[in-house]
Amino acid sequence: MAPMFDKLALIGIGLIGASIALKARREGLARRIVAATRRQETADTANKLKLVDHCGTDLAAACEDADLVIVCTPVGACGEVAKIIAPKLKSGAILSEVGSVKQAVIRDMQPHVPAGVHFVPAHPIAGTEHSGPEAGFPELFEGRWAIVTPLPDGDGVAAEKVAEFWRRLGSMVEFMAPDWHDKVLGIVSHLPHLIAYTIVGTADDMAGERRSEVIKFAAGGFRDFTRIAASDPTMWRDVFLNNRDAVLEILGRFQEDLFYLQRAIRWGEGDKLFELFTRTRAIRRALIDMKQA
Ligand code: NAP
Repeated sequence: MAPMFDKLALIGIGLIGASIALKARREGLARRIVAATRRQETADTANKLKLVDHCGTDLAAACEDADLVIVCTPVGACGEVAKIIAPKLKSGAILSEVGSVKQAVIRDMQPHVPAGVHFVPAHPIAGTEHSGPEAGFPELFEGRWAIVTPLPDGDGVAAEKVAEFWRRLGSMVEFMAPDWHDKVLGIVSHLPHLIAYTIVGTADDMAGERRSEVIKFAAGGFRDFTRIAASDPTMWRDVFLNNRDAVLEILGRFQEDLFYLQRAIRWGEGDKLFELFTRTRAIRRALIDMKQA
């Protein structure tokens, strides 16, 4: 198949940027793929791993003549990055990003987007607890969802091109409004991460012997939480600071549900526990049926 773009530029080349680079190269989605990152050390690693044709540290220079620019930095850096690269974005280019939060990223990036540049935010629902360029692998997006959140007054053709790019990276694509994206992801991703960070933090706060026993006997439940709680601290700090309203809303709901369970346990109401655990088991089965487990 013919390349979709002449030049693809990735700003940030960690887990997500590197995975896009590897898969886009494998699928021949762009004739040239370049990247730029903040630190020379990361650029050196990206070049050593041959993730892209060239990776440097001049963010703006990398975007020169690019037809598609994807910002793959932590959410909190997106606005500053947009400001830096804006002067080099060519007219007609598509500017996209992969942040786990949409409304705040749009708020921070949009004011810098030059007229004639099509801004199409997107978010691949795929990741691991690893970060950095060595963590990337081309199969990351295969069979996973990618959510495209076009702006209401944005260019429909550009949005469809971004959607097609993600399909060719192996994803299934869904279009969504940015505020709805933030609410949905608040439940399915941000809240679980917050819970995992809390549980592992609680265990870590335990004193002496009890703490070492927790680590020693970490079985299924706790072990699974430690994987999630090993996720990148910068990325997740930015997610919570930038999806504050949706996270606080769902956290309020969650606390009520937790009190309900606390009460059921206190009063020996096994039927309430059994009813909930049966419902939640069905959700896991539905996920397996949808090949999303
Ligand atoms: P990562 O592995 O930590 O990589 C981040 C990249 O951004 C690095 O190249 C880093 O550069 C660069 N960067 C950081 N701050 C920067 C700044 N101020 N200016 C320029 N470059 C900067 O992160 P990731 O997991 O790929 O995540 C990237 C984005 O994807 C985040 O917005 C995240 O919300 C989103 N996302 C992540 C996942 C996931 O599970 N990881 C899933 C979906 C979406 P240096 O190394 O040079 O400092």
